[in-house]
Amino acid sequence: MHDSNYIGRFAPSPTGPLHPGSLATALASWLDARAHKGQWLLRIEDIDTARCIAGADQTIIKQLACCGLIPDQAPSYQSQRGHLYNQALEHLIESKAAYPCGCSRKDIAQASSAQSRERHAELIYPGTCRDGLHGKPARAWRLLCPSNLEKTHWHDRRLGHQSQDVAAEVGDFVLKRADGLWAYQLAVVVDDGAQGISHIVRGQDLADNTARQILLQRALNLPTPIYRHVPLVLGENGEKLSKQNGAQALDLRSPLTCLQAAGRVLGLADQTTASSLPDWLAKAVTNWESLVCNQGQSSHERTT
Ligand code: GLU
Repeated sequence: MHDSNYIGRFAPSPTGPLHPGSLATALASWLDARAHKGQWLLRIEDIDTARCIAGADQTIIKQLACCGLIPDQAPSYQSQRGHLYNQALEHLIESKAAYPCGCSRKDIAQASSAQSRERHAELIYPGTCRDGLHGKPARAWRLLCPSNLEKTHWHDRRLGHQSQDVAAEVGDFVLKRADGLWAYQLAVVVDDGAQGISHIVRGQDLADNTARQILLQRALNLPTPIYRHVPLVLGENGEKLSKQNGAQALDLRSPLTCLQAAGRVLGLADQTTASSLPDWLAKAVTNWESLVCNQGQSSHERTT
C-alpha cells in the first residue's frame, strides 16, 4: 500500500481530553497513514470557540504521544487560519456560489414549517435570501445548492457506495455563521485542500457531512480526498460516546490497554503477543493492512 503522496490527518476539536472513541479514530487515521507509508498530520479544530476548552489541545497532543501517535509536522490550529477561510468565501462569492442570508432561526422556522422541510430535527433552509436580503442585514453566508443540483455520489472505503441529494436533504448550508464564526464545513474543506490531504479517515458520525464537503471542494476547485469512515464507540444510550453519555477518561498509565481497546473497536485482530508499545503499533499496522485489503478496497486506493 505504499503511496508517497498519501497525507492523512486526525482533526480533533479541543472540547476536552481524548476518550476511548476519539482514540480509536486517531489510531485508525495513524494506522492508515503508516500502512501507506504516508504522512500523518494533526489539526486542532478550534474554530467553535464557545465549545473549546483551554489547554485541551495540549492534553490531546500529550495523550497521543503517550500512545506513540506522533504527527509528522507541528500541529496546525484552525483559529490561526481565518485568512484562508476568508479567501475561500471571497472566491465563492465572486463565482456566485455563496450568498448572504439575513434570516433568523425564527424566520427559517416559519418559512420551513410552511413547506414542512426538516431533517434530523434540523430545519432545511428554504432559500429565502437567494434573491436578496429583503431589507434585512446579512447575518450568515450560505452555499447555493439549487434544486436542479445532481445527487452527490461518493465511495467510502468501508461503507461502500454513498449518495446524498444535498439540495433536497440539506439545502443551502452555512459557510459563515451569524455569530461570525466559520462553519465546520468550510474550514475543514479549505484545510484539507491547503494541507494536501489525500485520505480522510474519521468517525462514521461524520459520513453525513461528506456530500456537502465534496460540493464545496468542487466549488473551490479542490481535489476530493479518499474517505474511510470508521466505527464509533457507543455510550450507554447507544449514541456516539461522549462525556455526556459515560465516556471515561483514558487511563494512560497503561497506553497499551487503551490502544488494545481502540484496536478492538476498529476490528483489528488481538495482538496479545506484543511485547511493547512500539511492537504493538508495528503489528497493528500489518493487521490494518490485511483488514482493509480483506474489505476489498484496493481497487479504490491510490496506487501512485
Ligand atoms: N473536528 C471534528 C470532530 O472532532 C472532526 C472533523 C473531521 O475529521 O472532518 O468531530
